[in-house]
Amino acid sequence: MITASDVGFAYDGTPVLAGVELTAAQGGVLGLIGPNGSGKTTLLRILYTALAPRTGAVLLDGEPVASLPGREMARRVAVVAQENPPELPISVAEMVLLGRSPHRSALQPFTGPDHAIAATALRRVGMREYAERPFVMLSGGEKQRVLIARALAQQARHLLLDEPTNHLDIRYQHEVLGLVATLGITTVVVLHDLNLAARYCDRLVLLHRGTVAAAGPADEVLTPEVLEPVYQVSVRRFDDGDCAQLVFRPRTALSPP
Ligand code: ADP
Repeated sequence: MITASDVGFAYDGTPVLAGVELTAAQGGVLGLIGPNGSGKTTLLRILYTALAPRTGAVLLDGEPVASLPGREMARRVAVVAQENPPELPISVAEMVLLGRSPHRSALQPFTGPDHAIAATALRRVGMREYAERPFVMLSGGEKQRVLIARALAQQARHLLLDEPTNHLDIRYQHEVLGLVATLGITTVVVLHDLNLAARYCDRLVLLHRGTVAAAGPADEVLTPEVLEPVYQVSVRRFDDGDCAQLVFRPRTALSPP
């Protein structure tokens, strides 16, 4: 379980988050949504201690993350951030194997089980046949899937993802989020696509200008009444079997030339 309470943050004196509350329940998928600049990435970075909050606290299974050593954080939390890792001259298999590092001391070599776990993770994202290719030669979407495999290989009980569907085609957007949703790992995922959020997240936190505009079950947050004032677009909602799907339109039609 991940809990953030009264989290506030400022970059160089400019406030970007205030009074943010968030609870990612054990084994659930919590989606973090909101317009550009609303503070999603900043909040996620605070959750994995890349940034320290100015106010409030983040707890991991009840323990303040600020008090956990880096190595312990790495064992407990896997992160797929937006920034690509440095362009190391390593193969796809080696990149995924790096997910096993928190389970080894610096001088301990990877073992047979480490290799097996990494291979399974690579297969789960559909990249097994790419194992021997240089990581840097992959497309953006392929890199993204490998980085998700690296996070899976880490076998952490918490998973934080910042727009993991960026660069992915529609099939892999669904495959990756479908996989994440079935892992049973406590997950916080930043998503732009609200229809993907509707399908794969149990609960959502909607950020607007650095504060929580709405939070709750996806079905309750993804309504025209909640979304229209935040995104400034017209929203129509349909029920597609077991989940809501949304259609957006600009609020004011462009006047003819
Ligand atoms: P989102 O992920 O919702 O697009 P961000 O967390 O990236 O939002 O950004 C929130 C606000 O903080 C934005 O106004 C952005 O311009 C600003 N910001 C983000 N990163 C930095 C930074 N490193 N330095 C200064 N301002 C930043």
